Amino acid sequence: MRYVLGLLLMTLLAAPAYPWWETGHQTVAQLAALHLTPAARTRIARILSVPDTPEAVGDGLASASTWADETKFQTGTGNWHFIDLALQDTRSDIPARCKNDDCAPARIRLFAGELRSHLPGSRWSELDALRYVVHLVGDIHQPLHDASDADLGGNCQQLNTAFGRAKNLHSLWDGGIIGAMDVNAKSLTASLEKDIAAMSEADRQAIAAGDQDDWVWQGHQLAIEDIYGKLHIPTQPVMFPKGCPEAPMAITTFQPVIEGAYVDAMKPVVREQLTRAGLRLARLLNESL
Ligand SMILES: [Zn+2]
Repeated sequence: MRYVLGLLLMTLLAAPAYPWWETGHQTVAQLAALHLTPAARTRIARILSVPDTPEAVGDGLASASTWADETKFQTGTGNWHFIDLALQDTRSDIPARCKNDDCAPARIRLFAGELRSHLPGSRWSELDALRYVVHLVGDIHQPLHDASDADLGGNCQQLNTAFGRAKNLHSLWDGGIIGAMDVNAKSLTASLEKDIAAMSEADRQAIAAGDQDDWVWQGHQLAIEDIYGKLHIPTQPVMFPKGCPEAPMAITTFQPVIEGAYVDAMKPVVREQLTRAGLRLARLLNESL
């Protein structure tokens, strides 16, 4: 009995908070691996201790892509996975919303810098730096990691009816929509790569351009239009509650109704965000390694 209980506890503790989003992270990693320079691929293979082949590096990066979520409670780094920007914020508010570099874009900049300088910080190894960069670039392309309507990025809005396993707005975007598209990261990667292959080199470069703050700001705009706007969620005064019990009643009692038509309309948006994340991650790794 104790063994069974122990096993159950281990399973519960090991389960990441949003298991479906694993598909998103793995897809971003696999897609990025297809666009690495040979030099970057060789260094990643060495850091991950895998053979220097496209397949092994793709699989290695995909399994490294979820480590930051799996360890965030032990390491106390939960704030590194998002940036809370109020719907009323402007782009120039980004630094003020990221005190002590305690947010995703700052951590991407710092860890990419560690990889570039070959000087890992005292706490994190080169492997950790790589795992954070791969994960956090994926995270900021989930629009609800870049915006908050006094609702912890949609975590405080219970859906009127659960969509698959997603019970709140945040998890709908973490994995619910992807789950309705394709739960297999490899086939999803292949489908996205087919579209990328049909693009011109100039288009690919335009998508990959910019820095982490540009990408966060694009996600923030997307959250306002396609999530808070289309679902008619009432805009709240600027505030950042620590937990949902402190969130405004207008938010905790608002239960978005998610219809199939909304999810279908958002699938191309999610595909575009995954494509952007994959190409941008590849560029960042190519420039940093
Ligand atoms: Zn995360």
